[in-house]
Amino acid sequence: MYYIEMHGHMVSRTTDDYREMAMAGCVAVSEPAFWAGWDRQSADSFDDYFRQLTDFEPKRASQFFIRHVSWLCLNPKEGEDRRLTAEVLKRIPKFLDRPNVVGIGEIGMNRVTRNEVDTFIDHIRLALDYNQMILIHTPHLEDKYKGTRVTIDNLVKFQNLDPNRVLIDHAEEHTVGMILEHGFYTGLTLYPNTKVSLARAVDMIEKYGPDRITISSACDWGPSVPTAVPQLMLEMRRRGHSEELIRKLVFENPLKFLMQSGKFELPRLDIHATVSHTAP
Ligand SMILES: [Zn+2]
Repeated sequence: MYYIEMHGHMVSRTTDDYREMAMAGCVAVSEPAFWAGWDRQSADSFDDYFRQLTDFEPKRASQFFIRHVSWLCLNPKEGEDRRLTAEVLKRIPKFLDRPNVVGIGEIGMNRVTRNEVDTFIDHIRLALDYNQMILIHTPHLEDKYKGTRVTIDNLVKFQNLDPNRVLIDHAEEHTVGMILEHGFYTGLTLYPNTKVSLARAVDMIEKYGPDRITISSACDWGPSVPTAVPQLMLEMRRRGHSEELIRKLVFENPLKFLMQSGKFELPRLDIHATVSHTAP
């Protein structure tokens, strides 16, 4: 079965990882801009990072018939620096018409500070000004609930924002309900140690149903498994779920979401055929 990796930080992964993912059925990767593990010193560093995301990574992915799309922003951690934020935000528009850019992200909260909220709002304005989709990070552990709440409260203030074009990621048991009930897409992030395990993800799918839920490995420079999505597919089969349900979560939902960008396309035409003709 084909799948789309909805949240992979491929700049941190090797070319062998792309090959492993392709062999496991991955046909597209959506890569949000994020924190490199250390703070960048200048807006010029972001320029280089954006060039890597919009030029080098799509080429590297295409060797394995994987379509690579990316999201651009200043990440929540470095967004605490309002001076740097102002400089980086000025530089983002020139990248937005690159063929693989599908929106602004992953923006959002880290420690839910005043500066983070201001930077978040600046990014939403930028997205709306340029008719871009939005991908949102939510904080971890004790900041998860509060950060998700503040995120939603600020999003709903923008009356011209279509919740169908916004994905609030890293949802957990206590936040997935509030994200879905406001009409946003959401994402379950599979991690080997922290965040959501395979079993917890399937529990949430069983409770909330598959609509507007996407799955990702969020593979990055920390402990993470680039083929976590096919692992979830196996876990769902083990629990007796249908191929139709699995395909909706790992392929059709992310496809439907990304197609709204007007820029997303699958790497091979025969994939379209499998969507409309395969019976569960
Ligand atoms: Zn991420």
